[in-house]
Amino acid sequence: MLSTKFKESLGPLFPVANKIKLFYLRLKYKGDIVLCPCCKSTFKEFAPFGGDRRRNSRCPKCESLERHRLLWLYFENKTNLYKAPLKVLHVAPETVFFNLFKKQKNIDYHPGDIYNNLYPKGTVYLDILNHNLPDNSFDVIICNHVFQYIEEDKKAMQNIYKLMKPGGWGIMQVPINTQSTITHEDSSITDPLEREKIFGLKEHVRYYSYDYADKLRDAGFTVKVDDYTAAFSAEDNYKYGFWEGDAVYYCTK
Ligand SMILES: [Zn+2]
Repeated sequence: MLSTKFKESLGPLFPVANKIKLFYLRLKYKGDIVLCPCCKSTFKEFAPFGGDRRRNSRCPKCESLERHRLLWLYFENKTNLYKAPLKVLHVAPETVFFNLFKKQKNIDYHPGDIYNNLYPKGTVYLDILNHNLPDNSFDVIICNHVFQYIEEDKKAMQNIYKLMKPGGWGIMQVPINTQSTITHEDSSITDPLEREKIFGLKEHVRYYSYDYADKLRDAGFTVKVDDYTAAFSAEDNYKYGFWEGDAVYYCTK
């Protein structure tokens, strides 16, 4: 959602400015050391990204970040996403996945968000806290980097659980504070700058930690915390531009 704020601030200039920047980055990082699994492009490294300008992060072709590339391979290798006929709900749809899911013939794709106009065209309005979709509707639900923005995260998780078909699965990633063991949440912190300092971004209302999986379990899910980066060598972790130790929260019902 940070990127959506950024897009809002630039208005109609954003797509043009972004295209020019990506073109420049593709030239700057031309090479064949790293490989983006999402768009199959190679570079000498991925471009820096984020407030800390972390290295080897953003693909200059498809704009995937570490987490997108990891999940892309996870979907391919560990799930039935590309194999079975599936009805998929995608909350706050990441463009890189949106483009993939739209193309997959086996996927009946439903992208939605409360700020749907800021997402790829075809994303419908969806307030996950207040909707009229029937229970047990979706085989797969992808809801990445959403709960840290929502005060009523418990309700959001419960609603997503209700929407999932029995036997279904979902991926629900959030930023995890590896310096702690429990989620830091304090509703009295409302100042945006204070939130940024404590929770990571101005719009965040908490900073989850390793107890995040228990919160998903409390909502009803069976949760597998899968350190999928461990399945790759250190060389491949670098080649794909992963964040080593970035666990996948694979939730089933
Ligand atoms: Zn890419």
